[in-house]
Amino acid sequence: MAEPTNLALTAFCALLKDDLLLAQVRVRRQPAGFELRHAIDQDAAAGSLKLIPVADLRALANHTVIGDFRPIKAAPNLRSGWLCHAASEAELEFALNQLYPGAIADWFAAQQPVPPVTHYRDFTARQTGMYRVTTMLTDAQAAQVIRACCDGRFCLKRRLWTVPGLPPDKADAKSLIPCLEPCAVMLEFARKAMRIEQEEHKPTLTLAPSEVESLLGALETALAHPPTGQREADLSAASNPRRLQLLREKLQGFAPVASNPVGE
Ligand code: SF4
Repeated sequence: MAEPTNLALTAFCALLKDDLLLAQVRVRRQPAGFELRHAIDQDAAAGSLKLIPVADLRALANHTVIGDFRPIKAAPNLRSGWLCHAASEAELEFALNQLYPGAIADWFAAQQPVPPVTHYRDFTARQTGMYRVTTMLTDAQAAQVIRACCDGRFCLKRRLWTVPGLPPDKADAKSLIPCLEPCAVMLEFARKAMRIEQEEHKPTLTLAPSEVESLLGALETALAHPPTGQREADLSAASNPRRLQLLREKLQGFAPVASNPVGE
């Protein structure tokens, strides 16, 4: 009996031609099969990289170089220094599914005339229990939360879903891998953001533009040097980088407009 045609894989391999970058993975067509390696190793001598079997790619993708679990496989912290061979198109699909689960199927779905995208409002309307509060963020608040959570610092998927007032990521943004609906980290982040909005006894603080500028600079420094040993999905931690990014989003609206004050 003939094998059923995998339309998504066929289309992806046609796109691949000789060479293709999928998020942080460079895929190259070889005389027999395909070669995969981290994009930063694209010019490295093959002998300098650790050869790993396709079956070990999931383990590679599960943790960062310092051993932290990677809850979002499209986070831009995939380990480097490895090389992998896939003997066939089917093995290539298996390999990419270990690194970026569902990436080829989602990419193909996003090519359809009506991609199966679930937007924030539809997605959160379905939530029950502790996640019902995610419906309470206003469109403007939800947009800040989404911008913070899905920033390219944290995730390389191109977001196709939206909330009113926030466009999807541009076609050339981040990577070929589309994001078709909010993920579990996004949902938890929206819940935490709403709980923060609901906190009582908020102090009122008046800041000079220069002080806002200093705070933004401090946040940028903290984001560039995230704490080690902190779980990415631990959104209860005040120093969680997504929470810092959200604070940065909120402060950004108060940032002073660049000018050349007299005497400076
Ligand atoms: S919801 Fe955002 S963070 Fe989650 S996978 Fe999609 S783009 Fe990435």
